[in-house]
Amino acid sequence: MTSASLSKGLWDPCRILDVHLDAPSFQCFAIAARTDARCRWTSDSERFSASQHVAALKSLLAMSEKHPAGITRAALHALAQSTMCELHQRQAADKSSEWKARIDRYVREHGELLERDAEIERLRRQLEGSKANLEESCSEIASLKAEAWEADKRIDERAKASEEEAKDLRQQLDASSREVADLLKAKMLSDYGAELSEVSMESMRQELRASNARHEALEATIKDSERKVEEGKDLRQQLDASSREVADLLGAKTSSDEKARLSEVEVESMRQELRASNARHEALEAKIKDSKRKLEALSQRYSASKNERMELQEHMEEVKQDLAKRDQHIEQLVEQKEGAERTSVERDQNVKQLVEQKDGMKQGLVERDQHIKQLEEQKEGVRQELAKRDQHIEQLVEQVKELKQEVAEREVCEP
Ligand SMILES: [Zn+2]
Repeated sequence: MTSASLSKGLWDPCRILDVHLDAPSFQCFAIAARTDARCRWTSDSERFSASQHVAALKSLLAMSEKHPAGITRAALHALAQSTMCELHQRQAADKSSEWKARIDRYVREHGELLERDAEIERLRRQLEGSKANLEESCSEIASLKAEAWEADKRIDERAKASEEEAKDLRQQLDASSREVADLLKAKMLSDYGAELSEVSMESMRQELRASNARHEALEATIKDSERKVEEGKDLRQQLDASSREVADLLGAKTSSDEKARLSEVEVESMRQELRASNARHEALEAKIKDSKRKLEALSQRYSASKNERMELQEHMEEVKQDLAKRDQHIEQLVEQKEGAERTSVERDQNVKQLVEQKDGMKQGLVERDQHIKQLEEQKEGVRQELAKRDQHIEQLVEQVKELKQEVAEREVCEP
C-alpha cells in the first residue's frame, strides 16, 4: 500500500508520520547504534516475523479513517513495533513519541481544515443513510401497492363466488316453489275425485236402500203367499174331509138308492167345488213359485250390490290412504321449502357480511393509499432536504478548496 491510496481517508498518516512501506518489503525504521544510520534489515528478512508487514499496513489504514487528534499513543506504539526488526523493538517508544509530536503539530496547523473534512464526511454518511431510507420507503410503497392490488383481486373473486352461490340457491328455491304449486294442484284434483266418489257412494247407498225396501216388500209378499198356501192346505183338508164324507155318502148310497139320487146332486155340486178348489190351489202354487224366483233374483242382486259396496269401500279406503300420503308429501315439501328459504336468508346474510368485509377492506385500502401518499410526501420532503444538503456540501467543498489553496499559498510564502 502506498501513501496515495491512504489519502482517501480523513488524513494521510503515511505522509504526516513519514512512514512509507515500500513493496514488496520495507527497511526497519530504527536507527542502528553502530552506524548511526537506518537499520538495514528488511521486512522479508529473518529479523521480521511474517505478520508484521500486514499489521503495519492495517494500523496505517485504521489511523487514516480516524481524526488525527483521536490517534492514541498505544496505536502509535503498535505501529512502531510492527515497522521495526526484532533487534530494535526497544526504540518503539521513542518512535511513537516522535510520531505523536508530528500529529500534534499537524492538528494545530490544519485543525480548521480537518474539522471541515470531518463535517463533509459526516454529511456524506448522513446522505448515504437518507438514500438508503429513501430506497426502503420506495420498496415499502411498491410492496404495499402490490398487497392492495392482491387484496382487491381476492375481494372481487370472493364477491363473484358469493353471487354465483346466491343465484344457484334462488334457482333451487324457485324449483321447490313450482313443485309445491304442482302438488297443491294435484291435491285439489284428488280432493275433487274424492268428492265425486262420495257422491257415487251416496247414490249407491240410496240404490241399496231402495233395493232393501224392495226386498222387504217381496218378503212381505212371500209371507202373504205362504199364508195363502196355508189357507190352501186348510182347503185341501176340507177337501179330504169332503172326500171322506163323499165316501161315507157313497157307502150310504148302497143302502139307500133314493138317498143316493138325492145325494148325487149334492155330490155333483161338491165335485164342482173340489175342482174349483184344485184350480185355486194350482194358481196359488204357481204364484208361490214365481215369488220364490223373484226372491232368488232379488237375493242375487242384493249380494251383488253388497260386493259392489265392499269394493267401493275398499276403493274409498285406498283413495283416503293415497290422500294421506300426498298430504304427508306436501308437508315434507313445504318443510323443505321453508328450510331452503331459511338457508337462502342465511346466505343473503352471509353475502351481506362479505360485502361489509369488502367495504371494510376497501376503506383499509383507502387508508393505505393515504398512508402511501403521506410516505410519498415524506419522500419528497427528504428529497428536498437532500438537495439542500447537497448544495450545502458543495458550498462546504468549495470553502475547503479555498482554504486548501490558502494553506498552499501560505506554505509557499513561509517555507
Ligand atoms: Zn532494525
